[in-house]
This record gives sequence, structure tokens and C-alpha cells, in this order.
Amino acid sequence: MKVVENISLKNLNTFGVDVNSKYFVEIYSEEELKQVLNSEEYSNQQKLILGGGSNLLFTKDFNGLVIKNSISGIKLLDEDSNKVIVETGAGVIWDELVKYCIDKNIGGIENLSYIPGTVGAAPIQNIGAYGQELEETFYELNGIYIDSCETKNFNKSGCSFSYRSSIFKNELKNKFIITSVRLELNKNPNVNLSYNPVKEEAEKRNIKHPTIKDIREIVINIRKSKLPDPVEIGNAGSFFKNPVIAKEKFKVLKKEYPDLKHFFVDEDNVKIPAAWLIEKCGWKGKRIGDAGTHEKQPLVIVNYGNASGKEIYEISTMIKIDVKTNFDISLENEVNIL
Ligand SMILES: Cc1cc2nc3c(=O)[nH]c(=O)nc-3n(C[C@H](O)[C@H](O)[C@H](O)COP(=O)(O)OP(=O)(O)OC[C@H]3O[C@@H](n4cnc5c(N)ncnc54)[C@H](O)[C@@H]3O)c2cc1C
Repeated sequence: MKVVENISLKNLNTFGVDVNSKYFVEIYSEEELKQVLNSEEYSNQQKLILGGGSNLLFTKDFNGLVIKNSISGIKLLDEDSNKVIVETGAGVIWDELVKYCIDKNIGGIENLSYIPGTVGAAPIQNIGAYGQELEETFYELNGIYIDSCETKNFNKSGCSFSYRSSIFKNELKNKFIITSVRLELNKNPNVNLSYNPVKEEAEKRNIKHPTIKDIREIVINIRKSKLPDPVEIGNAGSFFKNPVIAKEKFKVLKKEYPDLKHFFVDEDNVKIPAAWLIEKCGWKGKRIGDAGTHEKQPLVIVNYGNASGKEIYEISTMIKIDVKTNFDISLENEVNIL
């Protein structure tokens, strides 16, 4: 374990933003993490735990210690004829876990295939896609408080999961480091076809009874056709959450815009696609210098070349202002801004 000084984070964030960190260390175990947190030398430094860097935007250099989580390992724990608990180190790549499970015909996370990043970051925003959310299979996690170095276990209710959020994105933001995650998965999996494009693609492929492997292939195919690959164009996926508005407000909007897509969250609230709002404001594929929105998916803000984090952030602010002005709806960031 070696702490290095003044390192570029360009290859450690999927926006490809070129910023420096004052200090940087990669840790491979809970013991190494505790060693770093306990060391007097860095005790006063601001700390940032970094996974794959696929859900954050650096707007300036980081004046502290970046701790890259590389705790590895996937283990099958308790199992019965139906369920199995899978424990994974927080530094494992999320999609490697999905593939590992599918290869063993263990189901429950196949719709979350190909989401970038690490397992340790997955509970932070309760990752979700194509009709599945992490919380559905989440069992518990372990981690360490940055200030006290105390270890703590969180069960599902302790995590306060909600749409792209959890206690770790709110009260415990930058205070707690997740070191391992346990999921409860199915040994006799039922496939989830609740998201129409997945169902339609299965029908198109003439698959009558899709397996979890089929679902993985379909989801990866859809994702590749819709979302820019961060290796080619820097991005962090959806920049904003889909806003939830009151039913009354939705009715007024729907009258004015009959093509408005939506779905009901509950009796009183409706979720609107942020991409639709952004496109209506003329932002689809718009570019200012090297920062802009993606031509196929305006919810994804991209770095077309050498945009700075500040330039990308400015675009996000302009989009928010336009959506607020045109629709009186406030967009909330999904991406963590630093
Ligand atoms: C092309 C693309 C598509 C995407 N699609 C989706 C999608 O469909 N659904 C979805 O939900 N997300 C999606 N994302 C966002 C992103 O992949 C997820 O949020 C992912 O979980 C982030 O993981 P990471 O390891 O890269 O986290 P990072 O970006 O490294 O960190 C994100 C935040 O979590 C904190 N953090 C990271 N690890 C830990 C830890 N071990 N303990 C405590 N805090 C930690 C960081 O400090 C930071 O605040 C997409 C991103 C991209 C680039």
C-alpha cells in the first residue's frame, strides 16, 4: 500500500476529466483501509472513496486523499434449495458479479447487466435499470466510518433505499465506506420482463421462455445501442434523476403536450422522463465547446474531447434553468458533483 502525491485522475473517472488529487492510495483489504484511516499523516485530509468513477464529476482538483477501493472476492454463503446469499468485496466490478451469478444460473440482478462501476458503489444510489433495482435483492452490507474507524453492518431497512438514493447518498455521504455487500439471489430464477423494450426484444428474437442469460444479452444489446461508451465519449450515464411531479401538475402538462410520456409512482405522483423535458428545451445533441448532451440520449451529458469538469457542470446548470423556466420542474442531479 503506497500513498502517491499529486496524481492525475483523468483515467479514474468516466467523464475523462483531467484533475489532480493531492494524495491517492489504492486499498485491497479492510485492514489496509483501516491502516490508511488511522494513519496520523492523513487524518486531517479530506477523503474521497472512489470506485469506478462512473457516477461523479470533478469540477476542480481534489485537495485531499482519494482512496480507490479494490477489495476483491465473490463468495457464496448460506443457501437453501431456493435462495443463496452472495457476498462480494466492494471493489469488484459490478458487471463481473452479474456475469458470475448468471454463469451459475443465480438470478435477480440480470436486468442490471452492464452498469459500470463497483459493487461497493451500487447501494449508494440503489442502482436500477430495465425494471430492476438493487434493493430488491439487497441483503446487507459492511463498512467503516471514516472518522471513528468503527465497523458497522447495515441491513436493508437501515439503508433507507429509494429511487437512486440511500442513506449513503444523504446523511452518510462521505462519512462511511462500504467494504462488502451481500445480496440474496434466486437459484430458481424468474425472469423480469416488466420493461417493455426487453420484452419486445425477446419476442423479436422469438424467445418464448427467456433465461436470465437471454435477459443479460438483450439488456447489454439495448444498452450498447442507446448509451455512449465512456471509453469513446466521456460520460457518467444519466446526469439527472427523472423528476416526480404531482398528478394535478401532470394533467396540465399532458393537455399542453399530449406526447408526454409518464408513469404513475402512486395515486398522487407521476414520474416524467427527464430526457423528454431536456429534449423539448432544445438540448438534444447540443454542444458548447467540448461539452454537450449526447445525440441519442439528451439525459447523458458528455465530454466530446477535452471539456473541463467546470464546463460540463455549467451545461448541467443551463439545462436545469431551461427546464425550470419552461416547465416549472426542478431537475435533481443523479451524478455526484465534487
Ligand atoms: C454509461 C453509463 C451508464 C450508466 N447506467 C446506469 C444505470 O443504468 N443505472 C444506474 O443506477 N446507474 C448507472 N450509471 C451510473 C454508475 O454506473 C453507477 O452509479 C455506479 O454504481 C457507480 O459506481 P462507481 O464504482 O463508478 O462509483 P463512483 O463513481 O466511483 O462513486 C460514486 C459515489 O459513490 C461513492 N462511493 C463509491 N464507492 C464507495 C464505497 N465503497 N463506499 C462508500 N461510498 C462509495 C463515491 O464517493 C461517490 O460519491 C451509469 C454510468 C455510466 C457511465
